[in-house]
Amino acid sequence: YTGKSSTQLLSASIRKFQVKDFQSIPSVINEDISVYDAICAMFLEDVGTLFVINKNSELVGVCSRKDLLRASMGGQDIHSVPVHIIMSRMPNISVVTPDDLLIYAANLLIEKQIDSLPVVRKKGSSYEVTGRITKTTITRAFVALIEDE
Ligand code: ADP
Repeated sequence: YTGKSSTQLLSASIRKFQVKDFQSIPSVINEDISVYDAICAMFLEDVGTLFVINKNSELVGVCSRKDLLRASMGGQDIHSVPVHIIMSRMPNISVVTPDDLLIYAANLLIEKQIDSLPVVRKKGSSYEVTGRITKTTITRAFVALIEDE
């Protein structure tokens, strides 16, 4: 008998979860596409957040559902406004790496009050997007805790 309480065992298993074990495939758009095309991409890919890259495939921003709603309500022509005008941009983007702990990612989602995080790989002074972590990811990990018992 190890003498460990069930709470200690549970927290030990949570601490073993890493971003790379739970990340999903990211939906990425180019910064030059229109707000209208970003809305189409969001519907087609069935995601709540799109990661925005430039022509060198570097992460430049994040575009959420409400970013697109706000842009659509502004009275501008959503067919001509490019998405880089309305997105949240670097360096103010929260990111995680594959080796980060999932609990670190979960804390970032709560602290920053956001729904998703790009999983990135460093590429010189910029980032390449390789995955995504969302609130759904955290729900899946929560369920896995019980199923792996
Ligand atoms: P929504 O805006 O649809 O509620 P979020 O809560 O994820 O979706 O986004 C809130 C705001 O934070 C948006 O303006 C969005 O661009 C921005 N945002 C989303 N994810 C990130 C991130 N990983 N880093 C920085 N800002 C983000």
